[in-house]
Amino acid sequence: MRRKTLQIPVGNIFIGSNHPIIVQSMTNTATTSIDETVDQCIKLFNANAKLVRITAQNVKEAEALKLIKQNLLTNGYNQPIAADIHFNPQLALRAAQYVDKIRINPGNFVNLFPNNISYTSEQYHQELNAIKVEIEKLIPILINNKVAVRIGVNKGSLSPRLIDKYGNNIEAAIESAIESAIIFNKLNFNNLVISIKTSSVYETIRANRLLSAKLDQLGLFYPIHLGVTEAGIDKHGIIKSTIAIGNLLLDGIGDTIRVSLTGDPLKEIPAAQNILNYYEKFLPLRLLPIYDYTLEYCPKVFTNNNLADGLPPRDIDFIEINNSNPFELISKKLETNKYINLKINTSQFDLYELCIILGRGWIDGWLRDLYLVDNNLRQDILNDIWGILQATGKRKTLTEVISCPSCGRTMYDIEKITKEVKERFSKYPGLTLAVMGCIVNGPGEMKEAQAGIVGNGLNKANIYIYGKLVSKNIPIDNVIDEFEKQLKIYNLI
Ligand code: SF4
Repeated sequence: MRRKTLQIPVGNIFIGSNHPIIVQSMTNTATTSIDETVDQCIKLFNANAKLVRITAQNVKEAEALKLIKQNLLTNGYNQPIAADIHFNPQLALRAAQYVDKIRINPGNFVNLFPNNISYTSEQYHQELNAIKVEIEKLIPILINNKVAVRIGVNKGSLSPRLIDKYGNNIEAAIESAIESAIIFNKLNFNNLVISIKTSSVYETIRANRLLSAKLDQLGLFYPIHLGVTEAGIDKHGIIKSTIAIGNLLLDGIGDTIRVSLTGDPLKEIPAAQNILNYYEKFLPLRLLPIYDYTLEYCPKVFTNNNLADGLPPRDIDFIEINNSNPFELISKKLETNKYINLKINTSQFDLYELCIILGRGWIDGWLRDLYLVDNNLRQDILNDIWGILQATGKRKTLTEVISCPSCGRTMYDIEKITKEVKERFSKYPGLTLAVMGCIVNGPGEMKEAQAGIVGNGLNKANIYIYGKLVSKNIPIDNVIDEFEKQLKIYNLI
């Protein structure tokens, strides 16, 4: 059963309740390049995105949204657009005059004490009150222009006030979403959608399970937007997004989804559509047990040859599933056993199916080892399996590379640099590297990484190690070499 929510009007569509789950994306053009941005919106709408978000990082960009919306309407595209707002409540006031939805990040919407690490109780409440004041100013404009709001929390950019109180964790992210939702709710504005994103699959699942329970407990039946932030590039991003979003949809959580992939946003739409198609096929998986997440057991991957962990020991009991019966056999075995080991022929499943079945099993703890019985197991398929295992956090065999999807703030070829980082530094399990589009959000949102490259101006980047800026304004063509040098200096490789 899908979680019951309010239906939120966003332009000419609804999010939540019994309305179809909405696929959305975000442009990565410069917002002030009106023609380019309109063109990308049109391509995304033609590809079946139902909502497109556009960054508005300054007054010029917020004003550009007016022309973008007009041009879209003139071209016959009346689908809703959303503005992405960070750091400046004034921009929300402007953008709300032109778009159908605005996303605010409560972590940076108002920060009264930018140098604070710890807060007195008085400062805590002063800042909370300042947020309320800004939201009060916004609401009449939202109502007059029929604009919805997404309270979009990102674990990488939580308010220092909440980090001080709860720690830099999921609990702080949930509190951030809930406190803003309560302010809107008390002011009788309920056209809200909520999201909590992290770059970790497990944390994304845990956060949204807790968030939906908490919202329901408080009677705040707002729809939930799902996504993994900085999921990465190509298959890496697809695997992380499919496991997280697919699992949550199985739980009945999620009313709109975005698969964030580094580079061309057009690639996001078929990936999101596939998740929607496949999760329904595996709905019975939701009935399987959910154990507390633990890293105690490190799953093994056996094959009929010397690949991966080699041949399986004789004493392990595997159950063999195929594409048509995965649920019945698994659930029967789990009636008598706490854990199972699976035997599969990967040629019977595609990547999305593997992510949903294996991802569910490893995240929820009922799956242990895997035996791939393919006669001619291809290395790329095996890499996918390692990728799924890595995404669940249960076993790491590669460097984890997180990368933001890019947006209008990105001023270098992030797709190329991300690919180069993956190629050159792939063999360091336990190491997390980041490639981020801009210094506005990049340094904050790459906290999970030990080191990262962050765009800083046109075709230039900075390098951060353990959150510290170690190299500045490197021409983008030299950045990989400089990154390697810094990683060596800090003994990371
Ligand atoms: S980190 Fe990436 S997606 Fe986020 S604002 Fe910067 S460029 Fe855009």
